[in-house]
Amino acid sequence: MAELLAQSLIRDVPDFPLPGILFKDVTPVLEDPSAFAQVCKLLAADAKTKGAEAIVGIESRGFIFGVPVALELGLPFVMARKLGKLPYDKISEEYALEYGTNTVEMHSDAMSPGQKAYVVDDLLATGGTAAAAARLVERLQGSVCGFGFLIELTFLQGRENLLGYPITALIEY
Ligand code: AMP
Repeated sequence: MAELLAQSLIRDVPDFPLPGILFKDVTPVLEDPSAFAQVCKLLAADAKTKGAEAIVGIESRGFIFGVPVALELGLPFVMARKLGKLPYDKISEEYALEYGTNTVEMHSDAMSPGQKAYVVDDLLATGGTAAAAARLVERLQGSVCGFGFLIELTFLQGRENLLGYPITALIEY
């Protein structure tokens, strides 16, 4: 595979948002059109291989990477949003973050039965967020055909929370 341009652009920010957390800042990737486009193309190719019929983006950086993937493949884009942001009839799932807890929601008509969703986020840490997004898809009778992340923090063993699902991470730390 060609060199991953995003690799050298990801910035480590120590002690954000809490002491002891090494935050992986992807904003320099977004500011480099070649690197950003390469990430989206690689995730789109993976989603296509997995037979995706919809792209689910997890708020908020999962939207940034998920929308171009959906457009590239001509697929519906479905938002998994934080608590209280969606206006219409919705379902909720709570999850634990590397720092704190949160709730993710999806409109109850966002997936159709049997539809295959490819779930995108910027980073896999403990896997709690991604697992909650998968539960939302499955409660709406969709299925998760794969997860795509730019970054995986392997030492947090997030894959343990996503057993049985195909997982692609472009960069591992
Ligand atoms: P988790 O549910 O633990 O897998 O956390 C994943 C979510 O939290 C993703 O949406 C990430 O954007 C964010 N996140 C968790 N840890 C970090 C980190 N060290 N650097 C950047 N983002 C993080």
